[in-house]
Amino acid sequence: MKTVLDFNFLNKTALIRVDFNVPLDSNQKVLDNTRILSAKPTIIKIIRDGGSCVLMSHLGRPKGRNLKYSLRHILKDVEKALDKQVKFIPDCTGKETLKTIRSLQPGEIAIMENLRFYEEETSGCKKFAKKLSEFGDIYVNDAFGAAHRKHASTSLIADFFPNKKCSGLLLNKEIMAIEKVLKTGERPVVAILGGAKVSSKITIINNIFKKVDSIILGGGMAYTFIKAQGGEIGNSICEDDKIGLALELIERAKENNVALHLPIDVVAADNFNNEANKKELQIFNITAGWQGLDIGPASIKAFSKVIINAKTILWNGPMGVFEMPNFSNGTKSIGDAIKISTNNGAYSLVGGGDSVSAVKEFGMDKDVSYVSTGGGAMLESLEGKTLPGIAAL
Ligand code: AMP
Repeated sequence: MKTVLDFNFLNKTALIRVDFNVPLDSNQKVLDNTRILSAKPTIIKIIRDGGSCVLMSHLGRPKGRNLKYSLRHILKDVEKALDKQVKFIPDCTGKETLKTIRSLQPGEIAIMENLRFYEEETSGCKKFAKKLSEFGDIYVNDAFGAAHRKHASTSLIADFFPNKKCSGLLLNKEIMAIEKVLKTGERPVVAILGGAKVSSKITIINNIFKKVDSIILGGGMAYTFIKAQGGEIGNSICEDDKIGLALELIERAKENNVALHLPIDVVAADNFNNEANKKELQIFNITAGWQGLDIGPASIKAFSKVIINAKTILWNGPMGVFEMPNFSNGTKSIGDAIKISTNNGAYSLVGGGDSVSAVKEFGMDKDVSYVSTGGGAMLESLEGKTLPGIAAL
C-alpha cells in the first residue's frame, strides 16, 4: 500500500477522503475538532509539495440533502485547524464543482458538501464513485473512521486511480497502532475490555486470544461471566443467553494460556441512578435488588498490577457506568494505571467508542500512546476484519 509520502504532489490535485464526521451541538457548533486536526499532517504535506487539496467527507446520517448536516457548519473550524482559507463547494457533482476544482492553485484547499446528501455514496454506486474520481489526480484516503464502510468515496473510488491512490498519514498511524498491539507488541500484552454487553465484544475476544497474555474484563459484561460461574449478581446487567458462551471463553482462555482477570468486588447501587444508595460488595455476592455499576477497590488494585507490569496495552470499553460521577472511579483508576504504565515505557492504545469518550472526559488523552479516531473501524480491526477502505488501497 502506498502512502502520501510516496508521491510528490507538485501541481497535482489531491482528492482526499477525510473523516470530518465531528460531533455538533444543537446550534451546529463543533464540540470536538480532534478528527479535523488529525487530518492536518496529510493536508500540510500535500500543500508543501505544491499541490492543491479537495476534501470530501460525510457528516452525520442525513437522508438526502438536509442542510442541518451541511459541511458548511464546520468550515470555520476547518479553516482554523488548518490555519488557511478553505473554499466551500456546495455540491459533490456537476460542472460548477469541476470548474471550481480546476481553478484551484497550488496550495489552495476546497471542501465539498456532505457526501451523504447522495444516497449513491452509502449504496456504493460505481457511477457516483467515477464522477467523484474526476475531481483529483491522486486519491488519498485518510478517513480511518469510515474505512469499515464499502462506500463510493471510501472504497469504490480507488479503482479509478490504479497507480495513483494512497493512504494518508492518519490512516497509517491507525494501522500501525493496531499492528503495534496485535502483531508486534512487546510482551506482556494486556487487553482491557469493558462496556455494557459481552455480545458486542465476542468477536474481539476470540480474535485476540492468540495475541495477548492477559485479558481484563470489566464493566457490565463481567456479570455474565460471574453468573456463569454460579455467582449471585442481583440486578446487575446480564445476558442470560450468553452464559454458555462465557463458560466457553473461560475455557478458551485456559487453553491459550491467557490469564483472564474478572472483577473481585463492585460498587453496587440500589438503582440505576447517580444518586442511588451505594455500597461495596464482593462480585459473587451482590445483594438481591442491587446492581454492580462500577468495579470496587480490590479489583482496581488487581487490575492495576497487571496493567503496570504490561509492556503493551489495549483498552476498549469502560469499567462501569462512567457517565455517572459516583460510578466513574473504576474507569478513571484504570486510566491512571495505564498512564503510569505508559510513563514507564509501555505502549497503550485506546480505541473504540466509549473508552475514547472516557479518556477525553477525564483529560487523559495525552497520557496514553494513541487514541484512535475510529469507533466502528477500530472495533472491526480488533475483530480481525480487513476494512474495505484499506483493502481498496
Ligand atoms: P459499550 O458501548 O458496549 O462499550 O458499552 C458502554 C456502556 O456500558 C457505557 O455507556 C456504560 O455506562 C455501560 N456500562 C458499563 N458498565 C456497566 C454496568 N456495570 N452496568 C450497566 N452499564 C454499564
